[in-house]
Amino acid sequence: MGNIYVKEMYLTRIAFSIITIFDLYFQIMNEPIEHVRCLIIGSGPAGYTAAIYAARAALKPVMYQGLQPGGQLTTTTEVENYPGYPKGTQGPEMMEDFKVQAERFGTDIRWGIATRVDLTGPVHKITIDENKEIHTDTLIIATGASAKWLGLESEQKYNGFGVSACAVCDGFFFKGQDVAIIGAGDTAAEEATYLAKLCRKVYMIVRKNEMRASKAMQERVLKTPNIELIWNSETLEITGDKGVTGARIINILTREERILTITGFFVAIGHKPNTDIFDKWLHMDATGYIKTIPGTSKTNIGGVFAVGDAQDKVYRQAVTAAGSGCMGALDAERYLAERGIH
Ligand SMILES: Cc1cc2nc3c(=O)[nH]c(=O)nc-3n(C[C@H](O)[C@H](O)[C@H](O)COP(=O)(O)OP(=O)(O)OC[C@H]3O[C@@H](n4cnc5c(N)ncnc54)[C@H](O)[C@@H]3O)c2cc1C
Repeated sequence: MGNIYVKEMYLTRIAFSIITIFDLYFQIMNEPIEHVRCLIIGSGPAGYTAAIYAARAALKPVMYQGLQPGGQLTTTTEVENYPGYPKGTQGPEMMEDFKVQAERFGTDIRWGIATRVDLTGPVHKITIDENKEIHTDTLIIATGASAKWLGLESEQKYNGFGVSACAVCDGFFFKGQDVAIIGAGDTAAEEATYLAKLCRKVYMIVRKNEMRASKAMQERVLKTPNIELIWNSETLEITGDKGVTGARIINILTREERILTITGFFVAIGHKPNTDIFDKWLHMDATGYIKTIPGTSKTNIGGVFAVGDAQDKVYRQAVTAAGSGCMGALDAERYLAERGIH
């Protein structure tokens, strides 16, 4: 008797679960597709600035924040070079300020990741979290970029406490100190010479016996007296206590190990723009940066605009990202006005 009762109970529960799943499925399928005039993907300085301008222009923007609400600056501490903060500020606080300002004018800020797009147009179809489709007349892509890291545990441990992927942002904090930089391309060479102006000594660690940087950049590095090039070498570990105190490196030819006494460790091995979902549709360079018409945020598809680090491999700063976010919103507003879309 008892067994039959338990069996019935389980069958009833399974039946209820199936009904609930079907119910949810039909709810999703029957949900009317939302149509907006301006959709912003990404919530870094570029996305929020686009949102402030678009909301003030009454475009009723909807923003999806993605996996990193607030963007790259939420991973750092001090930000001292953003105008309007004379005493500097903390990255996460600054991005909260951006959010509050975007919300003040009515931006609809939502959780969610754009997982697929169909830009056949004129209405652009964006899938959020694989389960919601949203249609938009204008799309502002502000998905940013991510720095590439070496993948060391100690690199993560001291990230923001001496480890950085941005010399222009963080070099100032190491004025008069000894630092190391990893990389061999143009950016690494440029950042090494930038650091050399601020720091006492810069160790530039290069994996091979040559650099990938242009000849002109290599010469600048070689001519800078306080840059010491360390060829054929890799970093095994970044050491420290409250912050970085050194780096243990190895010569990959001789297997000889060496400890560098440094307080700053800069990784300059490249960035990856977060643009994979658009690669079927938009013109991009070989590394995935979206190409825009110079002097605008316009892409090769009408009504689709790219702003911030997703389209900028040169400057990659919060203020330049914010500036291009403004351009994106103004370009979107004009696009709608020209077509009489209200
Ligand atoms: C450690 C560190 C320190 C820095 N310090 C400074 C500094 O002091 N001063 C300075 O000017 N700059 C600094 N920068 C650089 C600055 O953070 C970037 O230039 C700026 O954040 C770029 O802004 P963005 O809006 O283009 O993109 P990001 O800030 O990269 O934001 C991208 C946004 O897109 C979202 N996203 C990505 N993919 C999707 C998707 N598929 N769907 C939905 N959303 C998505 C993410 O969640 C994120 O919200 C620093 C960078 C780092 C990493």
